[in-house]
Amino acid sequence: MNSTLIQKLTDSYHNNSLFIKREDLLPFSLGGNKSRKAEFFFGEMMCGKYDSVVTYGSISSNHCRVISNKANVTGMDCYIISPSEKENMTLNRKMMLFLGAKMIYCDVNNVKQTIDNCMDALRKEGKNPYFIQGGGHGNLGTAAYVECFDEIVEFEKVNNFKFDYIFHASGTGTTQAGLICGKLINNKDTNIVGISIARKNPYGGSVVNESVKEYMKQVNCTPTLFETANFIDKYVLEGYGSSNEYIINTIETVFCKYGIPLDSTYTGKAFWGMEEYIKENMLFNKNLLFLHTGGTPLFFDMLNIK
Ligand SMILES: *Cc1c(COP(=O)(O)O)cnc(C)c1O
Repeated sequence: MNSTLIQKLTDSYHNNSLFIKREDLLPFSLGGNKSRKAEFFFGEMMCGKYDSVVTYGSISSNHCRVISNKANVTGMDCYIISPSEKENMTLNRKMMLFLGAKMIYCDVNNVKQTIDNCMDALRKEGKNPYFIQGGGHGNLGTAAYVECFDEIVEFEKVNNFKFDYIFHASGTGTTQAGLICGKLINNKDTNIVGISIARKNPYGGSVVNESVKEYMKQVNCTPTLFETANFIDKYVLEGYGSSNEYIINTIETVFCKYGIPLDSTYTGKAFWGMEEYIKENMLFNKNLLFLHTGGTPLFFDMLNIK
């Protein structure tokens, strides 16, 4: 895969240099980290005799949009299990429907059972379904972000330069786990700061740590120093999808100043969290990289509401 763009935004971001890596510009299905992960899942699927794919996600899930699209490309039936929500329609959900994904709605407390039932029913029909965890969680999702970290290392090499910090929106923690594994494998000392968009500690951070361990075990790598994830849960507000005026201001500023769309659920929340973190920890004279994890359709949803 071609590396995504790393661009410098400014040399004067609270007295630091700020760069951004544009995962939102990945070429498939409006990009984002789910697009990078999907390549890995479908790569594995193409090696087996699968004819359908089952996954899980909310009404605003970028993951489910990308999987629906990829299923189309590869000629697989796509089943999306989703909690029945009273929330407004989103562009991601419209795209899932447009792409012909079969929606199965269930109660939030009944997800696992619904997934099992769906897989069983398909198998009884003689189908061979492939299951992807919500958000593309798991070793293959982690592998995708080891690859992304490699791209960052390559950029540093070519430019004879070093990032001190990488900030990004952390959800299931797979993106963060991949970056940490990449760091361990490459023997780097980059600070990786995951700004939680929903989960609280200790659960949120422990999921990242578990994912790191699992992946390192699979690739047979024993790092000399194990890293505990820096999973910051201070900016989740009232949880998934919740927002405030500071986040909205951040989104406006970044779009007006740099022409880059952020959203209030993931990247806008993380960008705001990064700003707070920089002030609080008095970071100074550092090279900062913000990983733009995508979610562009959510930017348009926000414009629609405003
Ligand atoms: C899913 C998602 C995340 C979170 O990624 P995880 O690997 O689940 O932590 C961040 N940003 C965007 C735009 C996403 O869609």
